[in-house]
Amino acid sequence: MKLPKIKKRYCPYCKKHTEHKVTQNKRKAASPLTYGSKIRAKRRGKARGYGNLGRYSKPAVTKFKMTGKKQSKKTDLRYECKECKKTHMQKKGIRAKRVEFK
Ligand SMILES: [Zn+2]
Repeated sequence: MKLPKIKKRYCPYCKKHTEHKVTQNKRKAASPLTYGSKIRAKRRGKARGYGNLGRYSKPAVTKFKMTGKKQSKKTDLRYECKECKKTHMQKKGIRAKRVEFK
């Protein structure tokens, strides 16, 4: 995915549209061993409810936790305002294999 180095964007500190420098940050991969991973699994409709939900035993960890590797990663862009030099994060990452700046 090709992105411009400078983008006009709304700055909540200057309260107007200013030029922002776009930089790419490394997005940290979610660990499958944290408590949060179970919460994410619940959101995906897995491991929901109390107890073992009538199942005899727990399913394999790979069935509901985030295991395995994805081909693409979500972008983690930071926008630095040129006027006040404050950085803002993007709202939502887009899946991309590679990010290039023009
Ligand atoms: Zn600003």
